[in-house]
Amino acid sequence: MRICIIGFGAAGIAAARHVTARKDNVQHECIVFEQTDKLGGTWVYTDDVGNDHYGLPIHTSMYKSLRTNLPKEIMGFPDFPIPEQEKSYLTAKEILHFLRLYVDKFNLNKFVKYNHHVKSVTPNKNEWKVEVRDLKNNEDHSYTFDAVLVCNGHYHTPIYPTIPGIDTFPGEKIHSHDYRQPNIFKDKRVIVIGAGPSGIDLSLEIASTASNVILSRHKDSDDIRNVFPENVKMKFEIKEINGKNVIFEDGSIEEADTLFYCTGYQYSFPFLTEECGIRVEDNCVQPLYKHLIHIEHPTLCLIGLPFYVCAFALFDLQVRYVLKVLEGEVKLPSKEEMLKDTENEMKLRKENGLKKKQFHMMGPRQGDYYAELASLGNLPPLPPVMADLHNFASNRQLNDLKNFREDNYKIVDDKTFIKVN
Ligand SMILES: Cc1cc2nc3c(=O)[nH]c(=O)nc-3n(C[C@H](O)[C@H](O)[C@H](O)COP(=O)(O)OP(=O)(O)OC[C@H]3O[C@@H](n4cnc5c(N)ncnc54)[C@H](O)[C@@H]3O)c2cc1C
Repeated sequence: MRICIIGFGAAGIAAARHVTARKDNVQHECIVFEQTDKLGGTWVYTDDVGNDHYGLPIHTSMYKSLRTNLPKEIMGFPDFPIPEQEKSYLTAKEILHFLRLYVDKFNLNKFVKYNHHVKSVTPNKNEWKVEVRDLKNNEDHSYTFDAVLVCNGHYHTPIYPTIPGIDTFPGEKIHSHDYRQPNIFKDKRVIVIGAGPSGIDLSLEIASTASNVILSRHKDSDDIRNVFPENVKMKFEIKEINGKNVIFEDGSIEEADTLFYCTGYQYSFPFLTEECGIRVEDNCVQPLYKHLIHIEHPTLCLIGLPFYVCAFALFDLQVRYVLKVLEGEVKLPSKEEMLKDTENEMKLRKENGLKKKQFHMMGPRQGDYYAELASLGNLPPLPPVMADLHNFASNRQLNDLKNFREDNYKIVDDKTFIKVN
């Protein structure tokens, strides 16, 4: 088959590795289009924000000081773990280095067209027409493929909050996508909007330079048990904004210099034309079978949508499953059955109190998802210790934000990990 991979971050890298692996009787043609000049996607740090020199939005959301929020023991690929070292929580640079090792090991660079931006993907009978801009040479090219694996990531298109009066705010407004270093908040009174993992993490980081920080969170969000420094306060939702005054639902008013949006990202596939039939509603991407395969056009697959997962291992598993389907080794259920399956999962999640925008959230459900994909694809399962350590480490983060990155882990066997210190 002629297979197109869009993006050469961790998901595209995993895809390229498996698509190009020579098997007994199958050898696919593969082209990876990557719009930047580097591998690694979001793990590539740059000081730049806004648009790049080709006028495309800067993709990465990486900030300078970032250390992973998961231990390296569960951040590797199933047959290519992150090399042994004492520390479990690595820097972004170290993860990027690891991805380069992986790309070199499987000799993947030769399949990649860097500085190639995918402009559109359109179904055409049983094929896909892919329009690509060669950015360096300022030329457009058209390609035809039998299958397209979309690996464009999902932490690049910010969600901005809608708060009455927000346009009257005269100070700076910045989304975490454009955050690089805490010095921009020096001596500022900052309101952080959104208390997900990045809002919490970044509140702690910017408290080192800001004069004071208020972290605004939803009433129904998880309790935050972290001990912040004295200049960080927590409040619930903002009711409205009137000039410099930020008015909270409890009636209190705070003057602020900067609004810092940690309100997350939306799934976005600007290159998928309407004919592709992919809809994003309330951050739920449909119609997909197992969060992955387009039910109407099963040769279009969206790799890496689930979040709160062991990302690289998940990409690897999803790609191996997709290849089994594309190669005809595994047969998909009928369209009706796939739609029913997705509908049932939505219903179940709703009954468990999850919102539509949490449809692709795994967390405690990740182990079941991995086991299901492996079983459907007749593939070796991911060891259960991955999901177990993920869930353990996530709880440590919630309970001890300041110190959890000093934890070191060791995986003993498929079912057991130990916390070494
Ligand atoms: C700040 C931050 C911290 C994180 N920390 C962790 C962590 O500690 N542990 C963890 O497991 N995960 C973490 N993640 C999640 C991380 O996103 C995933 O681990 C993973 O790297 C995502 O890989 P990806 O390939 O899906 O997407 P990306 O890394 O975003 O790569 C997508 C690639 O597609 C390219 N692309 C996009 N559109 C086009 C187009 N039209 N044409 C051509 N190319 C295109 C982009 O240039 C990019 O290179 C973090 C994410 C962020 C933003």
